[in-house]
Amino acid sequence: MRKQNEYIVDDVEFDQQLRPLAFKDFKGQPKITENLEIFVRAAIMRHEALDHVLLHGPPGLGKTTLANILANELDVGFKVSSGPVLDKPGDLAGILTSLEKNDVLFIDEIHRLSPIVEEYLYSAMEDYRIDILIDKGPGARSIQIDLNQFTLIGATTRSGLLTSPLRARFGINCHLEYYDASVLKGIIVRSAGILKVKIEDEAATEIANRSRGTPRIANALLRRVRDFAMVKGTGEIDIEITKVALNALNIDNYGLDDMDHKILLAIIDKFLGGPVGITTIATAVSEDAGTIEEVYEPFLIKEGFIKRTQRGRVATNKSFAHFGREIPHNQQFLF
Ligand code: ADP
Repeated sequence: MRKQNEYIVDDVEFDQQLRPLAFKDFKGQPKITENLEIFVRAAIMRHEALDHVLLHGPPGLGKTTLANILANELDVGFKVSSGPVLDKPGDLAGILTSLEKNDVLFIDEIHRLSPIVEEYLYSAMEDYRIDILIDKGPGARSIQIDLNQFTLIGATTRSGLLTSPLRARFGINCHLEYYDASVLKGIIVRSAGILKVKIEDEAATEIANRSRGTPRIANALLRRVRDFAMVKGTGEIDIEITKVALNALNIDNYGLDDMDHKILLAIIDKFLGGPVGITTIATAVSEDAGTIEEVYEPFLIKEGFIKRTQRGRVATNKSFAHFGREIPHNQQFLF
C-alpha cells in the first residue's frame, strides 16, 4: 500500500537517493535494529540464511528500507515482489527457483497473497522445497523441486489479515512504531545533507513535528519545503519559509492534513462525535475504508483524536477542541 497523503508524489529516484543502506544510517526503532543486527551476525557466522522476517506497521515507516538493509548487511542477493503481483503459483515458483543460496526475497503487502500462492509458500519457507504440478487432467503429476536456502521478508500494513499458518512460519516478527519528532529531525537533517540543501535547526524541528511520525512524510515535506525555499525564498530552508510551505500544504500543527480533517470533521459534525462505523466514515469522506484503516486511523488513534469502541469510532475531546467545536453533552463523561 503506497497510497499516502495527497501531497506526496511518488518519486522513486528521490526515494532511492534517501534510503539508508546500512543499519548505521537507519534511525530510530532501536529495539528492532539491535535484535536484527544480532540475528544477521549469527546467520553470517553459521553461513546460513537468516530466519524469515515479518515486518509490520503503517506505510512509510521503513519496512522496505529495512529489508534492503538486511540483504546488504547479509551481503546476499535481493529480489522484490508483492502480494498482488504474485497471483499464480507459477510466478512464485519462478522467483523462488531463481534465488541463490541465502538470498533475500522481499514480498510487500504479503497479506494480499492469494490463498493458493500462500500455500505454496508454506513448504518453500519450511523445507526449502516446492511441488510443481505438470500437465493437466488425468496425466497431471507433481514434481518436487529443491530450493536454495533463502530468507523471506514479508511486509504488511495489516498484520491482522495474515493467516495464522503464514504468520507462524516467520521466525522473526517486528512491529514498526511511529517515530518520535527528535528521530524524524535527524532523518530530515540527513536527507537535507544528501540533497545538498541548507536547513535551519528550527526548520528541521518544525518539519519533524508535522510529519505524522513517518519518515516517508518527513522526506516528502522536506522536498516540498525545498521547492518553496527555491522559488519564494533564498534557497535555504529557514523557519519562515517552512511555515509558509506547510501552511500552503494545509498541514496543521499536529501534522494532520486535509483527509485527516475530513475524517475528524465527519465524525464530529455529521455523526455528532460517534460512535460510527468505518464504512460509514469512508462513504462520508469518499475514501476507501481499507485506506482509512491502514493509513489515517492508526495515527489519529495514537495521537488521541479518535477512539475505537465496540460500537464504532468516537471523536475525543482533543478532536473537538482542535476544531473549536463544543463537546456534546452525551460525550462529556466519556473522555
Ligand atoms: P515502508 O516500506 O514501510 O512503506 P519505506 O521503507 O519505503 O517504508 O520508507 C519510506 C522512506 O522513508 C524511505 O525512502 C527512506 O528514505 C525513509 N526512511 C524510512 N525509515 C527510515 C529510517 N529509519 N531512517 C531514515 N530514513 C528512513
